[in-house]
Amino acid sequence: MITNAPYGVEPWCLTENELHLQLLAQSESVFALSNGHIGMRGNLDEGEPHGLPGTYLNSLYEVRPLPYAEAGYGFPDKGQTVINVTNGKIIRLLVDDETFDIRYGTVLSHTRTLDLRAGTLTRKVTWTSPAGHTVEIESVRLVSLTQRAIAAIKYTVRPVDEKLRLVLMSEIVANEEIPVTSLDPRAAAILEKPLVSEEHYAVDGDNPRAVLVHGTRESKLRLAAGMTHNVRGPARMATSTESFDDMGRLLVAAEVGPDEELCLEKFVGYGWSAQRSRPALIDQVVGAMAAAKLTGWEGLLAEQRQFLDDFWEGADVEVDGDVEIQQAVRFGLFHILQAGARTENRPIPAKGLTGTGYDGHIFWDTETFVLPVLTYTWPKSAADSLRWRYLTLDIAKEHAAELGLDGAVFAWRTIHGEECSGYWPAGTAAFHINADIAAAVVSYFDATQDMDFARQYGLPLLVETARMWRSLGQHDAFGRFRIEGVTGPDEYSAVKDNNLYTNLMAQHNLAVAADLAEKLEDEARKLGVTTEEAASWRDAAEDMYIPYDERLKVHPQHDGFTSYARWDFEGTPEDHYPLLLHYPYFQLYRKQVVKQADVVLAMQLRPDAFTAEQKRRNFDYYEGITVRDSSLSPCTQSVMAAEVGHLDLAYDYLAEAAFMDLEDREHNTKDGLHIASLAGAWTALVSGFGGMRVANGKLCFAPKLPPGIIGLTFRMRYRDRIIMVSIRDHAATYSLLAGEPLEVNHYGDPVTISKEELTRDVPAPVQLPRPTQPAGRVPQAHRSRND
Ligand code: BGC
Repeated sequence: MITNAPYGVEPWCLTENELHLQLLAQSESVFALSNGHIGMRGNLDEGEPHGLPGTYLNSLYEVRPLPYAEAGYGFPDKGQTVINVTNGKIIRLLVDDETFDIRYGTVLSHTRTLDLRAGTLTRKVTWTSPAGHTVEIESVRLVSLTQRAIAAIKYTVRPVDEKLRLVLMSEIVANEEIPVTSLDPRAAAILEKPLVSEEHYAVDGDNPRAVLVHGTRESKLRLAAGMTHNVRGPARMATSTESFDDMGRLLVAAEVGPDEELCLEKFVGYGWSAQRSRPALIDQVVGAMAAAKLTGWEGLLAEQRQFLDDFWEGADVEVDGDVEIQQAVRFGLFHILQAGARTENRPIPAKGLTGTGYDGHIFWDTETFVLPVLTYTWPKSAADSLRWRYLTLDIAKEHAAELGLDGAVFAWRTIHGEECSGYWPAGTAAFHINADIAAAVVSYFDATQDMDFARQYGLPLLVETARMWRSLGQHDAFGRFRIEGVTGPDEYSAVKDNNLYTNLMAQHNLAVAADLAEKLEDEARKLGVTTEEAASWRDAAEDMYIPYDERLKVHPQHDGFTSYARWDFEGTPEDHYPLLLHYPYFQLYRKQVVKQADVVLAMQLRPDAFTAEQKRRNFDYYEGITVRDSSLSPCTQSVMAAEVGHLDLAYDYLAEAAFMDLEDREHNTKDGLHIASLAGAWTALVSGFGGMRVANGKLCFAPKLPPGIIGLTFRMRYRDRIIMVSIRDHAATYSLLAGEPLEVNHYGDPVTISKEELTRDVPAPVQLPRPTQPAGRVPQAHRSRND
C-alpha cells in the first residue's frame, strides 16, 4: 500500500492504522478538529499519553510581558498567547479495575480516521487489559460547523467475550499540565495554569451536566464550558455527576455483557466574552447544549455532512494520476475550511486552532496565502477574516501614530490587534502586511462584488493603508517614490530600502485606494479623503521606484541586494537549516540568501509588473539563493515555476507544500498545522497548473499539466457562480455548475463559460532547463503514484 507516511492514502479520508507513540504530537495536529471558533487537537479520548493537550477558543488569549534586554521607543511591552482552555474531550474508561491506557495491556488494533466529507474523527481500538479482559472501543468526535459553540463525541464500549464491569468518566478539565515541548522561537510561550475558577456546578438526573466558569488574569476574559450527555447501556447502570474548581465529571458504572454495549453521547458547549456576565455566559453554554441535544447526535452528523457537501460542491479539486496529491489537497482544503468556517469576525491564526505554534498569532499568512483560497471556495469566511482586520483598525491607527505615520499600521503578529512582535526588524518593519491586507480586500471584492463590504470595510481598509504608504515613502530628487527601511517577505533581509515586493504591493494599494475612493465618493468623503489626497496616492503609485539591475538583468530584492556576497551555501552543513536557528541574523542580512519567496511572490501577485523574460530570469536567479526556511515558500515557487516553464520543479514544490504536515517536512507539525502551506497546495494546483489569475476584473486561465498528473479538475466560486475547469489530454474544458454565464480568458482568448461545456486546446508547455538551488536545498523529487 502507498503511504503518505504514516497515513494510508485514500481520496476522502486520512487513516492512521496503528498508533505511533513517537508521532503522537504530530498526529494531534493532523487530526485536529475545528470550526474556526473552537479547536480541538486530536488528543486521545482518555487524555494521555499526549504530545500536547490542546483545546482552543478563537481569540481567547492571555497577556504576558515581553521583556527586553535593551528596550527602545515604541517596542511593544506585552505579548498575547493563545491558552489551552477547558478540555471537553476527555472520556476515561475503567475495565474492571484497570484504566484503559494504550501504554499498558495489549493494543490489538488501533485506527484513527479523519473523514473529510463527514467532518469527523473516528477512533477504533481493541484492547486487552493487563488482567486479560478485552474491549472494543469506538469514539467519533466532531466540532460542529453548524452549531458554533458545540463539539460532540459518541463513545461506545463493548466487552469482547465476557461480562465486564465498566466505568466511564466523562470530564471537562481546566488548567491541564502542558509539557514544555521546545525551545524553538516558533513554538509558544507556555503559561502555567492560565485559568482562574469563578464558578462550577453539576446536575444529576435525566440530563446530567456540569459547567465550569473561569477567567484569565491579565486579559480579563471569561470562559464557560459545559457538558451534557445521553447515556445508553444495560439495565444495571449507575450515573452521577460532580464538579470542582477545575473539573466536571460524569461517572457511569455498568455491568455490560458481551452482547451489550455502553454508549455515551457527549455534547460540549463553549462560550467566552470580554464583557458578558457570568450568568449570561452560563446561559449561553447551557442553551447551546440544549439546542445540540435537541438536534441529537445523528442530527449533528447530518448537519455536518450537509455543510461539507455545500463546501465541496464549489471547492473540490480532483487530481487524476496522483493519489497522494489528491488526498493532500483535500486534506488541506478541509483544514482551511475548519480554520475559517465560523470565525465570525475573528482572525485565522497561522496554525488555525490546531496548536500553540507562534503563540496562536495571526500573520500576513492569512491575507496572502489563506484568503485567496477561501475567497474562491468559501468567500463568506474571507469576508469574516477581513472584517476582523477592520475591527482592529483603531489599534492600527494608534500604532501608526506611535510610529509617526499617517493612516494605519496593522500588527505583524497578534491575536487581538496589538503588535506582539518583540523583534522590530522582522516585525513592524514588515510593512508589506498592510498592502497584503489591501490586496486581499481587492481580491475578495473582485470575486464577490460585495458592495456593502466594500463600503463598510473595504474602503476604510484601503484608505488608511494608502495613507500610511504615502507617509512612509517619499519622492526623491528624480521624482521617484521610494520606500526606505522596510522588511519584505524574505526575513533573511531586514530594514532595507525599496524592497521590490513592498514597493509593488504598495503601488497597487495606493492605486486601488484612489480608484475605490473615486467610485464611492460619499463614503470616501466621510473618511476625510479629498481629491487632492487621492491624487497624491495616484502620484505615489505612478512614480513608484522599482529597482532593476541592468547588469544582471534581474530585479534586485531591494536596493543593492545583488551586490552582496552570496551566502556560503557549500560550506553550510545540511543540518544547519533553518539558518535562523544556527547563524546570527546580522550575517544573514548582509548576504544573498533568501529565506522565502520575495521577488518570486511579487511576480505571482503583480504579474502585470514583469515581462515574461524578466519572470524567467528572476525565477532562475532567486532559485539559486532561496533556501525555503519558511513553509510559505514552496507554494509560491511552484506557481511561478509552472508559469515560466519548469513543470517538473513546480510539481516537486507542489508536493513540498502539500506534504508539509502529512510528512512533517519541517519537523514542527507537532506545534500545529502550517495553514498557509496547506492553502498553498490549492494555489499551486489552481494558480500554478491551472494558471489562474485575475486581470482587470476577469478570471484568466493558462492551464498546463506536469508529467505525472493525468487530469486536474477544480471548482471555484466566482461572482455567485460555481465554475469548473477540467484539464486533460492537452485540452481544457470549462463548465458552469451554478449561476449565469461568465466570460473568462483562456491563454488570453475570451471564452464564455456556460451550461454547455466548452473545450479549448492547451498549447504544449515550454520546458526550460531546470534551475539549480543552493547546495543541499534541492527539493525532494516527487513521483506520482496512482493505485
Ligand atoms: C515566516 C513569515 C511567516 C511566519 C508565520 C515565518 O517563518 O518567515 O513570513 O509569516 O513564519 O508563518
